[in-house]
Amino acid sequence: MAFRSGFIVLLGRTNVGKSTLMNRIIGEKVSITSPKPQTTRNRIMGVLTNKNSQMVFIDTPGIHRGSKGLNRIMLNTALSAKEDADLVAVMIEARDMPHGIDLELIGGLSTSGPPVILLINKVDKVKKTIVLPLIDRMAKLYRFETIIPISALKGDGVVDFITEAERLLPEGDPFFPEDTLTDVSERFLAGEIIREKAINLTHQEIPYAVAVSVEEFSENQEKEILKISAVIYVERDSQKGIVVGKGGGLIKEIGISARKDLEAFFGIHVFLDLRVKVMKDWAKRDDSLKRLGYR
Ligand code: GDP
Ligand code: MG
Repeated sequence: MAFRSGFIVLLGRTNVGKSTLMNRIIGEKVSITSPKPQTTRNRIMGVLTNKNSQMVFIDTPGIHRGSKGLNRIMLNTALSAKEDADLVAVMIEARDMPHGIDLELIGGLSTSGPPVILLINKVDKVKKTIVLPLIDRMAKLYRFETIIPISALKGDGVVDFITEAERLLPEGDPFFPEDTLTDVSERFLAGEIIREKAINLTHQEIPYAVAVSVEEFSENQEKEILKISAVIYVERDSQKGIVVGKGGGLIKEIGISARKDLEAFFGIHVFLDLRVKVMKDWAKRDDSLKRLGYR
């Protein structure tokens, strides 16, 4: 049997479940999931190598309306990822009516591009009776290779997706060594884990405003400890107050929770040093976006 390999881009509205699916497929905390939208800013790649194939999944930052600085960058990243793809998987949520953004996204698919699979996610949340009519409705909108109802969270349908994806990839050699899980650096992943905690624990709508820069990432092999120093950047003094919390309580909580995940992820004791700094309006400025690695 010929070996197949290729890049599979996941496209879909923020919060639809792309990162959850990536995590399920790759089996590690490759993408960062969050109950709040807009937590995946950079593309993250997960590699699944089987006996007969290598699938490289690209988790895109989601599709947004609006044209503010960061939104535009996220949209461009998503669209440019689509152009390099061997296969596109568009994800929508199971519900009576597809979301307007889903329709826009599907409308933007070219008929000459790579094959497209439609994933209808979160079927665990809805009555079975809404799924079939939704499949019918979606099938009329575009010539999808196949439409697969899944639950990224519970796992239903995920094997079907992988089987179909493998079938649709071109023949070719693997792109990466077979033990590769992800291309992003451990340093970057460490920053994403910290950012996830900061966003989730602030219970505020400030995901746009939080960026993390990992200043030190060094392993002391003798002492078997990983030292990570990171700065959480926010845009305004008031946000700094939120992240630090009363008497430093919240930043402490963020640190404890992040350290737990970092230790589980890297499999080694972690010494974590966290600071919070204000970088005025960083999300609107080209220079600071570059500095923080967002472009
Ligand atoms: P992304 O923005 O597309 O990457 O979405 P995430 O993967 O971060 O998921 C957003 C939220 O939806 C999280 O709270 C997930 O736990 C939840 N979620 C994802 N997939 C499913 C699913 O199949 N069923 C249910 N019930 N929730 C899901
Ligand atoms: Mg995500």
